[in-house]
Amino acid sequence: MKNFEYIIGQEAVREHLQHSLALNKISQAYMLSGEDGMGKKQMAEAFAKALLCEEREDGGDESCGNCHSCKQVESHNHPDLIYVTHNKPQLISVDEIREQVVGDVQIRPYQSKYKVYIIDEAELMNEQAQNALLKTIEEPPEYAVILLLTTNEQMMLQTVRSRCIKLSMVPLSDDQIVKALTQREHIPPVRAQKILPFARGNLGRAKELALSEEFEEKRTMYIRILSQLPGSSVYQWTDDIEKLAEDKKELASGFDLMEDWYRDVLLYKAGALREQLIYQDAFSKVAQGAGTYSFRQLQKNFEALCVAREQLKRQVRPQLILENLFTELRRTKE
Ligand SMILES: [Zn+2]
Repeated sequence: MKNFEYIIGQEAVREHLQHSLALNKISQAYMLSGEDGMGKKQMAEAFAKALLCEEREDGGDESCGNCHSCKQVESHNHPDLIYVTHNKPQLISVDEIREQVVGDVQIRPYQSKYKVYIIDEAELMNEQAQNALLKTIEEPPEYAVILLLTTNEQMMLQTVRSRCIKLSMVPLSDDQIVKALTQREHIPPVRAQKILPFARGNLGRAKELALSEEFEEKRTMYIRILSQLPGSSVYQWTDDIEKLAEDKKELASGFDLMEDWYRDVLLYKAGALREQLIYQDAFSKVAQGAGTYSFRQLQKNFEALCVAREQLKRQVRPQLILENLFTELRRTKE
């Protein structure tokens, strides 16, 4: 974990937080929203580290990185930095919020001026949990700073949202991604360029793709499947479905690849040029898809992918998700 200076891009969010530090005007609840891989946690930790740093002078907007407190934050061992945890994968319960935040916040900080709470995946709090948290956000002790990180701001109660300073992470530029991959991860420039369209400004995804040995192989497999799906029978995909269903985590990024594919098909159908496509190397197959699918069916494909993602989150059996998805994707007209 590093400081603000280490963060690539996200200038608006960074400046807001550093400005608050410099002016010593710290709000007590922040909501950082953005996709997984956009660096929400890194940003929250840089902020927490600066808040808790022992060497930071009044008006300083960055942690020193060397003091005892900074070291504790880096090793995830700071008693005044609390990461809210949850037992069920898809739920942060009211009991967990009560125990780890509402009750805990009454205890004064052990060694710092602040006590910082990071609630990652805050959208997993159900309504009860959010309402319990709301009371704390409404009347927090002056030392409390609560950082809500979320991929889906819409899942947060309006009452909670309105009490938070809202900050949004944004996609990085291609140059920023390439720089991060080549200079920090020592990934060869050719490889960095190749994964670039699939990263869509998301550095976390970019790193994952660039470091994945299987990415090329996987991509080739998806091109084969997606180009042959229209008009086929769902039974001929049994083996592929079996294979894809093996790894749930891989499946989520597979859905990204599929979405990119239909995006290309749709763009090409609407008159885009080859240079504007992500799958430029499979251009003829994209063009073929554009000739086969109706606009309406492409829309349905995107919807089906959306449903599949939701089902994956809700722990539906991967085989079943894929069977349903393929059933929709093989249709060419509504
Ligand atoms: Zn420090």
